[in-house]
Amino acid sequence: MTSEEVHTPIQAQWVKVSDALRGEIGEAAYQSWLKPLSVREMRDGLLTLSVPTRFMRDWVLAHYIDRLRLLWGGENPDIQRIDIIVQNDRLCANGAARSVNGGADGGRPAAATEVARPAAFVGETAHDIGAPLDPRYTFENFVVGKPNEFAYAAARRVAEAERVPFNPLFLYGGVGLGKTHLLHAIGWEIRCRIPVRSVIYLSAEKFMYRFIRALREQNTVDFKDQFRSVDILMIDDVQFISGKESTQEEFFHTFNALVDQGRQIVLSADKSPSDLEGIQERLKSRLNCGLVADIHATTYELRLGILQSKAEQIGVTIPTKVMEFLAHKITANVRELEGALNRVVAHAQLVGRNITLETTQEVLQDLLRANDRRITIEEIQKQVAGHFNIRVSDMHSARRARSVARPRQVAMYLAKQLTSRSLPEIGRKFGGRDHTTVMHAVRKVEELLASDNAFAEDVELLRRMLEN
Ligand code: ADP
Ligand code: MG
Repeated sequence: MTSEEVHTPIQAQWVKVSDALRGEIGEAAYQSWLKPLSVREMRDGLLTLSVPTRFMRDWVLAHYIDRLRLLWGGENPDIQRIDIIVQNDRLCANGAARSVNGGADGGRPAAATEVARPAAFVGETAHDIGAPLDPRYTFENFVVGKPNEFAYAAARRVAEAERVPFNPLFLYGGVGLGKTHLLHAIGWEIRCRIPVRSVIYLSAEKFMYRFIRALREQNTVDFKDQFRSVDILMIDDVQFISGKESTQEEFFHTFNALVDQGRQIVLSADKSPSDLEGIQERLKSRLNCGLVADIHATTYELRLGILQSKAEQIGVTIPTKVMEFLAHKITANVRELEGALNRVVAHAQLVGRNITLETTQEVLQDLLRANDRRITIEEIQKQVAGHFNIRVSDMHSARRARSVARPRQVAMYLAKQLTSRSLPEIGRKFGGRDHTTVMHAVRKVEELLASDNAFAEDVELLRRMLEN
């Protein structure tokens, strides 16, 4: 959409219609499904809208088309039909995808006017202290559902805001649920919209490595300056910073300096700031100051949506039955789901046969068996902590108060029952405890199960929730 178009009556109507719908469906859904829509033309009673992907079109048609018709009919009685076409004019996202693979070409700094020629800026803004952004990880390729809509909306907000909306944005969630994807998407979006802004993305490990090297080379002033001249600093997997005092200290200072200058910081971790272990309290409270958004485990609907979107991206038709089967069975995380889909597709292409339920089951035999019953100790700890209303970090802490010691024992007992981990392995996951402690916990819980009905019911309930 160009700025001249904004003033046409049809554009003005669209603003009204989309505002009304935004109120109905909520901000997150609006951002993912309606915002990407643009008005193409209105001719002979036919209003044409466009979206960037086919998946989006299908989604809008399935969920919002009736409301769109009704609301728009109210604004403009001339509209008899609404058509949605797929048209990707997001030059930026596309161009980025192409040019990154072609490698960085170095050279002069990009000007804001070059947005439409992405090849000119990719590589130049990829500051050498950061890591490159993965071209697949864009907002367009991110499927939004209940478990991630909050994190998604927060990420979009950061990417689109004129001024820093909250600092830092702290995204957390289990492995393979899309944290890195969202970080990269923020990076792409900002590079696309305002290429002169410097965006740096790097893993916490790399941050630490850089810092330690700077220390060794007695070059910490440069190191600090590099980070402090950044507009948006994104650090992935900050749980890996924990424990290293000097790095934490430096991180903290860099963090404060950037915040004070009104720069945006985005962080990801596998736990919430309060649950991060080995991180100084003052750093934790700083991390809690901005917006903390978690990504929950996937739901069936989200998994199905992701499969549809991925299948479309790779351009293959997969029977609905197969997708439903996969969405039901591969529940661990999105990464695994993607892997399963890729395997099924690769197999079909290799043997030159169609994808069917039977071949899928055959190809994924091992994965399916593993997914049938795989509960992690982390899940157990989380579930049990939630149930008894204690912190997950108490599962690892040395506190011996009954209120935390008992739930911890229950979690150890369930870990023994529901996973194939050995006693020493379980002990390690509970703050490095000895295997005899785990053995003692298992016995204690068994005793209580036999003598205390209410307790037995609690444990049974937990087991069922975990096995589900
Ligand atoms: P994390 O950093 O949380 O471990 P990633 O961001 O690396 O997870 O995601 C793992 C894989 O799953 C990536 O290939 C990513 O593109 C994909 N993925 C995760 N969530 C989604 C989503 N909602 N829509 C599309 N792809 C997703
Ligand atoms: Mg990641």
